[in-house]
Amino acid sequence: METNYTTEQLQRLDAAHHLHPFTHGSALGAKGVRIITEADGVFLRDSQGNEILDGMAGLWCVAIGYGRDELADVAAEQMRQLPYYNTFFQTSHVPAITLATRLAELAPGDLNHVFFSTSGSEANDTNLRLVRHYWAAKGQPEKQTIIARWNGYHGSTVGAASFGGMKGMHEQGGLPIPGIVHINQPDWWSEGGDTSPEEFGLQRARELEEKILELGEDKVAAFIAEPIQGAGGVIIPPDSYWPEINRILKKYDILMIADEVICGFGRTGEWFGFQHYGIEPDIVTIAKALSSGYVPIGGSLVSDEVAAVINDSGEFNHGFTYSAHPVAAAVALENLRILKEEGIVDRVKETTGPYIKEKWEALTDHPLVGEAKIKGLIASIALTPDKSTRAKFAGEEGTVGTLCRDICVANNLVMRAVGDRMIIAPPLVITNDEIDLLMERVWQSLDQTYERIQAEGLLQAA
Ligand SMILES: *Cc1c(COP(=O)(O)O)cnc(C)c1O
Repeated sequence: METNYTTEQLQRLDAAHHLHPFTHGSALGAKGVRIITEADGVFLRDSQGNEILDGMAGLWCVAIGYGRDELADVAAEQMRQLPYYNTFFQTSHVPAITLATRLAELAPGDLNHVFFSTSGSEANDTNLRLVRHYWAAKGQPEKQTIIARWNGYHGSTVGAASFGGMKGMHEQGGLPIPGIVHINQPDWWSEGGDTSPEEFGLQRARELEEKILELGEDKVAAFIAEPIQGAGGVIIPPDSYWPEINRILKKYDILMIADEVICGFGRTGEWFGFQHYGIEPDIVTIAKALSSGYVPIGGSLVSDEVAAVINDSGEFNHGFTYSAHPVAAAVALENLRILKEEGIVDRVKETTGPYIKEKWEALTDHPLVGEAKIKGLIASIALTPDKSTRAKFAGEEGTVGTLCRDICVANNLVMRAVGDRMIIAPPLVITNDEIDLLMERVWQSLDQTYERIQAEGLLQAA
């Protein structure tokens, strides 16, 4: 879209009229927002002509990279042929049917059914109603409670934010809603104390069993979790964690909802993150890389057993005007075709993933970096003033992370801060040369952060 406004005019209009998500509005208004104007491959361009390496694939979503004309062409064609029709009243359309079929092929096991939404949040709200309705339809209406995790992220709608374990979100708007409880996360770096990672992984998994026994197994409908926590700071759990969770879920007959909104469609080097961990989900939340972010679409992949119960229980009174939107479905199909035919998921597993892993893990050689974790193309580092004790910084949490993030942007790299963890999830099409450039900018930014916090007296352990 073209504009005759200058950057300053656009910033003023943005501050006057645009409320931003997860943003302190007046602080941003005073500073002036950065305006992204175009993008190609793994690079963004802003209104001042900076070319920025997007280490976050937008918000984890632009898997195939920016600027793929195929998706634009498919969208335009679909808009001309059938821009919209709903799937409520005994109708369907070719994009919806084809995408549902394709997803059933891609998903392992008996995940053969899809309920479409337009986002990950809506999909998780769908899941909330789906699992409660499932147990009620099976004659166990008291099986209603859902167990989730502190510092998990599942979206911003009421149900999804209640699943999430973000205290700052719960504080605004009276969340979580009743019937959703949280257990602790498997974040060994921050919370593992003197325990070994493996022992800690088991301890945190066993909190699930304790919670089930406390509530009563006949009261628990489902457990929801991200295979790897994304927005919580890319927390890759110890290897002992998931096998123990799987054992517990099977033992007590509790549904597993794997939130694959970030991990899904190749991020970890498999089509789904749960494939690394032997998880057998009954429901899988999908969004983000499903369309590489070119259009909004999400969904819930559902097992044969859950779908059969829902299908046989009368009407499921739930749906969105844009469930299975034909343009979004057509674009998602084209995106999945590109991911598959260009071997992008395999490349993450066999080429770029192993290439960056070695370089990423070597970041622990930097004086500021404690742990460095990576799986496929999703990675994090923990910044610390003292790695031997895994100390936090003395100042307010996130001060150093935010400083580091701003330095990264000044060095034309998008790397996100979560507290004092730094995270990346670049487009899956990133090449080895571009990984070299990314790592160069990460090192440069860490060096500059280190100098700055030394100079400002922030290099203090809490
Ligand atoms: C982003 C995200 C969501 C929410 O998706 P939206 O499309 O923003 O509603 C849900 N779960 C996870 C794991 C996410 O990262």
